[in-house]
Amino acid sequence: SRYVTIKHHINGAPKQSDFEVQTVTLSLSLDPGSNDVLVKNLYVSIDPYQLNRMKDYSASQMASKYALAVLPGQAINSYGVGRVVASANPSYIKDDLIVGLIGWEEYTLVRGEDAIMIRKLDTTEFPLSYHVSTLGLSGLTAYGGFFNVCKPKKGETVFVSAASGSVGNIVGQYAKLLGCYVVGCAGTKQKVDLLTDKLGFDAAFNYKETTDLKSTVKRYFPDGIDMYFDNVGGEMLEAAVENMNMFGRVAVCGVISEYTDAKRRAGPNMLDVVYKRITIQGFLAADYMNDFLDFISKTSDHIRNGRMHVIEDISHSLESIPLAFEGLFAGDNIGKKIVQIADI
Ligand code: NDP
Repeated sequence: SRYVTIKHHINGAPKQSDFEVQTVTLSLSLDPGSNDVLVKNLYVSIDPYQLNRMKDYSASQMASKYALAVLPGQAINSYGVGRVVASANPSYIKDDLIVGLIGWEEYTLVRGEDAIMIRKLDTTEFPLSYHVSTLGLSGLTAYGGFFNVCKPKKGETVFVSAASGSVGNIVGQYAKLLGCYVVGCAGTKQKVDLLTDKLGFDAAFNYKETTDLKSTVKRYFPDGIDMYFDNVGGEMLEAAVENMNMFGRVAVCGVISEYTDAKRRAGPNMLDVVYKRITIQGFLAADYMNDFLDFISKTSDHIRNGRMHVIEDISHSLESIPLAFEGLFAGDNIGKKIVQIADI
């Protein structure tokens, strides 16, 4: 089985040349009683947080300690959809489709003790890739963060950064369905047009075209921001806090602009936070696993009835993973970045 690994730790923006493909031999005969499952990987998720796992801890001040490190030469696990090719686990039989923690590799041997990290996919109502994007962890992140942390009410104002990205586009669509006023920012005209023309955002702007973020954000929120869903950190968080309303809520989902630069940090005006009684709360998708079934049922219904669009950006082949990953930090992706490794 071929797999993608890092050649060395990565500090700064990742490049394709930081990665290589290696090969490992896997046996099709699994130990009876081991509960192991051998999975052929079909679609895998490409996520910004993976970069924080690839850093050199000693050299970096970044948050690598928060996720299991990736070492050079090791396979890199990631969320995805696969098909069972052999099973010593009574819960799975050959040809079952599964979703969960697999990896940037052709086949994943899911050990019995890790079988809790996968689950059977018992519907083929939607394309399989949807279970990596809007019906996968990106969707759960948007759902959990928006509804639990932002605690939105109809008619309130919402600002979303990296809004055409995987999590961002879903947050904006939930917010519109609830009846909020929604503005997103993104890095190209094509992305901005997608937000307003297809996804129903009330407005959107290209943050790369402004030199004064604070006044740009103010222009889009003359009555202030009630909720900011932060995917990028840095100056965007500062500009949002400056424009928050009383009792505003900031859901800190991620700070991608800080992942590639260990010195970059948001410095929001904390006096604003005090006087405006702003809540700033970080969260992880994992916090909302108990909401998973509720999330799947409501979101599937939105998709089924054409109320939500699924925005995906799929490339093909294991070899394309490094380029796909590099592209996240250059803003190449529109919607959820996925690599299809194999046909079913
Ligand atoms: P996206 O699909 O949004 O892809 C990343 C996008 O971020 C790029 O397309 C780019 O879009 C934007 N971006 C890249 N670099 C910068 C920068 N320096 N400044 C501003 N924007 C930048 O990724 P995801 O939706 O998967 O992730 C979005 C955020 O959510 C990340 O911070 C990620 O770590 C976090 N996350 C957190 C989770 C949690 O459990 N808390 C789970 C999943 C994701 P553009 O063209 O707009 O610049």
